Amino acid sequence: MIIPELIRILVNDKAFTVDEAIDVVSKTCAYTNHTILAEALETWPIGYIEKVAPKLVPIIKELDKRVKAKYKSPKVQIIDKENRVHMAHIDIHYGFSVNGVAAIHTEILKNTELNAFYKIYPEKFNNKTNGITFRRWLLSCNHELADYLSEILGPYYKKDASQLEKLLEFKENEMVLDRLSEIKLDAKKRLADYIEEKEGISIDPHSIYDIQVKRMHEYKRQQMNALYIIHKYLEIKRGKKPSTPITFIFGAKAAPAYVIAKDVIHLILVLQDIINNDPDVRPYIKLVMVENYNVSYAEKLIPACDVSEQISLASKEASGTGNMKFMLNGAITLGTDDGANVEIHELVGDDNIYIFGKDADTVIKHYKKGDYVSKDYYEKSKIVRETVDFIVGEKCLKAGIRENLTRLHDEILNKDWFMTLLDLEEYIKKKDEVFADYEKRTKWKKMMLTNIAKAGFFSSDRTIEEYNRDIWHLSD
Ligand SMILES: *Cc1c(COP(=O)(O)O)cnc(C)c1O
Repeated sequence: MIIPELIRILVNDKAFTVDEAIDVVSKTCAYTNHTILAEALETWPIGYIEKVAPKLVPIIKELDKRVKAKYKSPKVQIIDKENRVHMAHIDIHYGFSVNGVAAIHTEILKNTELNAFYKIYPEKFNNKTNGITFRRWLLSCNHELADYLSEILGPYYKKDASQLEKLLEFKENEMVLDRLSEIKLDAKKRLADYIEEKEGISIDPHSIYDIQVKRMHEYKRQQMNALYIIHKYLEIKRGKKPSTPITFIFGAKAAPAYVIAKDVIHLILVLQDIINNDPDVRPYIKLVMVENYNVSYAEKLIPACDVSEQISLASKEASGTGNMKFMLNGAITLGTDDGANVEIHELVGDDNIYIFGKDADTVIKHYKKGDYVSKDYYEKSKIVRETVDFIVGEKCLKAGIRENLTRLHDEILNKDWFMTLLDLEEYIKKKDEVFADYEKRTKWKKMMLTNIAKAGFFSSDRTIEEYNRDIWHLSD
């Protein structure tokens, strides 16, 4: 809205001509794209704008007229054939910069999603990989780790996150590795106390903490994680027990009208009930979905995490920032090559991250051809069939609500828009590998150290510096 509104103010109140006003906005407005999900790329019927901001309508129509005079492709129009206004298209034509929030996301904007615009304005496109504030996500939420890093690196890393890399010099130092692992155990104990108090569930600090906390959305594939847990449950029932117990933790909020998201939450709560009340299974795995997940809860969960779940369908997660918070606190990522996971992967190398699943190009091709059929994956694989069917098996139906469970089962089998079953078997294999590696303690501790050391790139200080250097020019 800033572009038409600023034009309105300049023309009406400040006596600019329309040409002059357009010239001003085109030198002052810049557009950041945060997601390519259809529900977030706003398009509004012009009638709606007529109601809430009638003075902007003639301006939007003028901007549209100028675009139509120059470019014929329907892909770059502001007002489409159905009289809907494409808000982002205003920004791209009349702003001076277009950026994505992670390297792969910006490439997808250029080559696929916004390709028609990239052909017109290649010089406008640039990348700014997201960051997180280290003040909150290390110094404030993990005092024990922050103090220890000060002790061995000096305090300067607090102002210059790139100095965390000096930690690599201690990779063969057993005392340092042991201390990092002790700090992790302390955070796991604190989280166990907090969860006991908040949720009334007791968890074992010596178990592996496998955590997926983020907004509930099908593209983030919490349902795939739940299917893994079903697989593990069935294996334990068949006598194959994990040698180190595992605690699976979820936290998520869903949009109130998002039916399938609520069904996934329901499934997780049903599994929590089944697993935590089964004496055969309880000693080996536990499941907790925390209530009211928010930043305060995140500050307690993140320092305590061993395995960071970042399993979005490749091409769909623009960046993610949870992935950065976890690595900074010494968790190891289990993820797809998507969003900023790609850059984490490049920084830490193949040996310090667990990557699985089909890549973004493959997924984009499936969408283009419309040739992904989830039922094919179901019919091909016994593991997929038995985990998916467990959702509507006797045990779940007894513990949960039939309507929610059958609707979710039907969704996964007959639609599965975010391709859960495409990667499920690879996910199960990779995750078993992660849990086996957790027992190779020295190897695991070195992975923790490497992840902390390489997290400096994701400081928001770096991100903001880049925005300032390339877009804002505040100190010129
Ligand atoms: C960081 C954060 C997020 C974003 O998490 P992603 O894994 O990047 O989706 C969401 N909610 C809270 C409370 C957070 O702290």
